[in-house]
Amino acid sequence: MPSNAGQTEEAQQLYKIRHSSAHVMAQAVLEIFPDAKLAIGPPIQDGFYYDFDLPRPLTPEDLEEIETRARNILRGDHHFECREISADEARSLFANQPYKLELIEGILASGTDEYGQPLETTEAPKLTTFRQDAFEDLCRGPHVHSTREINPEAFKILHTAGAYWRGDEHRPMLQRIYGTAWKTPEELQAYLHRLEEAKRRDHRRLGKRLDLFSASEAVGPGLTLWHPKGAMVRYLAERFSLEAHILNGYQLVYTPHIGRSGLWKTSGHLDFYKDSMFSPIESEGEEYYLKPMNCPFHIEIYKSNQRSYRDLPLRLAEFGTVYRYERSGVLQGLTRVRGFTQDDAHTFCRPDQIGAEILLALRFSLYVLRSFGLTDFTAYISTRPEAKAIGSVEDWDKAVETLRGALEAVNVPYEYDIGGGAFYGPKIDVKLRDSLGREWQLSTVQLDFNLPERFSMEFTGSDGKPQRPMMVHRALFGSAERFFAMLIEHYAGAFPMWIAPVQATIIPISDKQNEYAAQVAARLDMEKVRTSTDTRDERMQAKIRDFELEKAPYALVVGKREAAEGTISVRSRDKGDLKSMTVDAFLELTRAERETGKPVKLD
Ligand SMILES: [Zn+2]
Ligand SMILES: [Zn+2]
Repeated sequence: MPSNAGQTEEAQQLYKIRHSSAHVMAQAVLEIFPDAKLAIGPPIQDGFYYDFDLPRPLTPEDLEEIETRARNILRGDHHFECREISADEARSLFANQPYKLELIEGILASGTDEYGQPLETTEAPKLTTFRQDAFEDLCRGPHVHSTREINPEAFKILHTAGAYWRGDEHRPMLQRIYGTAWKTPEELQAYLHRLEEAKRRDHRRLGKRLDLFSASEAVGPGLTLWHPKGAMVRYLAERFSLEAHILNGYQLVYTPHIGRSGLWKTSGHLDFYKDSMFSPIESEGEEYYLKPMNCPFHIEIYKSNQRSYRDLPLRLAEFGTVYRYERSGVLQGLTRVRGFTQDDAHTFCRPDQIGAEILLALRFSLYVLRSFGLTDFTAYISTRPEAKAIGSVEDWDKAVETLRGALEAVNVPYEYDIGGGAFYGPKIDVKLRDSLGREWQLSTVQLDFNLPERFSMEFTGSDGKPQRPMMVHRALFGSAERFFAMLIEHYAGAFPMWIAPVQATIIPISDKQNEYAAQVAARLDMEKVRTSTDTRDERMQAKIRDFELEKAPYALVVGKREAAEGTISVRSRDKGDLKSMTVDAFLELTRAERETGKPVKLD
């Protein structure tokens, strides 16, 4: 949510430009719809939005007019002026603005800001407005001094979307107008180009077009159905990852989807995480919860046996499907879902092993991610939160230093997220910058000072006395769903050959070559190459075009000549036409590409 703390001057100026642009856009909307009810209008990454309750749905023509009017306002030299107002003044100033009134009461009752978000301050509530030209809005700023600081040619209205008031599907549906503003028209153009590219790569759009996955109203929102092609990519990715885990000292486990309420009481989930859990299932007078995390189950496996210092480290790994309650209004594609599969691992070790275990978790994660052709990582170390952290400052400092040392050893650039840690321990988040420069949260290595205590975990030390093990949570892809979304968008659906659901499309030029095409397919099948044969009664050009749309790495065209010579005419998705060759030559040519996902043991 909006915050401009800790940003560079450059970023702060952009923040102010966008925040001020939101106000100007709202002014333009009010000029056209004097009865518009205003909700909230924060700056966001790369732009801003404002939510309105309007008498009718906005048309593209409306958006053009809003943009024209907003640009006209920007051309004036209107100053942004701040003033503090009393509660009564605020109530009368916004008497016709029910959403603002609700926000005002939230501020007065303390605890929320002008966007309805919780405030982290103990100061007495204060009501301020900002006014430019004829428009005054409930706001804490900051803003530019004058509209002159915003280049009208670097300002643009983008699109609209429905948005529930406060993200709550029981509250009114509002019209959200998105816009963007930059310092220069060139920056705006570059951004619009990136947007086009992002749209072209959008995993929801490609997921449908390439028949990879869907969600069904009948099944429920945020619950993903993996279609055969999407499932093939996931299977290959999981198989590679699982085999790599086993080769590198992890042991696989499987655990159930539900567990007794007592388990979640012990783990603390029912005290601290209940809002993200689905309502319990009652059976035989007992309550069971769908698991939001796998950790307690892995801990129970640890506890199923007496452990000695010689048994540690114990590394348990599972592709575990978890369920977390999210409001239906915020669900999105594969990135915000209610059920997802974590590639989860928990390491239980002796205190003297913790440095080596964190390094292993990190090296291993990077190795697996790099096998997918991903290279541009930044890590973030989250440190001790100010409020209610458990464990001493010294413990935290030591642990953070261990995390930092591991990042130095794997040579990944890192930054600190000061105070951003969970209350139970520091962590490393590894984020990937994709081909469009966007960051995706992937791996997490999280230390836990809490659960070993809560579950009274023990091992017998070399002196025969019971000791507490240390615990590390590690997610590698993060979630199978989000990882898949990232792969789709990073590669624009053109997956590397080793995970492509169809690796080669065989295209007979006429049905006279169908039999030869079947022989080629059978030969490739023996080498486990995934093919599909396009025997439709279509022209060659149409088949080639569809091959390009389907984004298989190779097309193998077989005509009269190829059939006579026992060859295939190879066309590469990435390199264009290659010459004709034997099937064996094709297998040799693609060997390295096909074998990328062969797991190795790290030394
Ligand atoms: Zn504002
Ligand atoms: Zn965990």
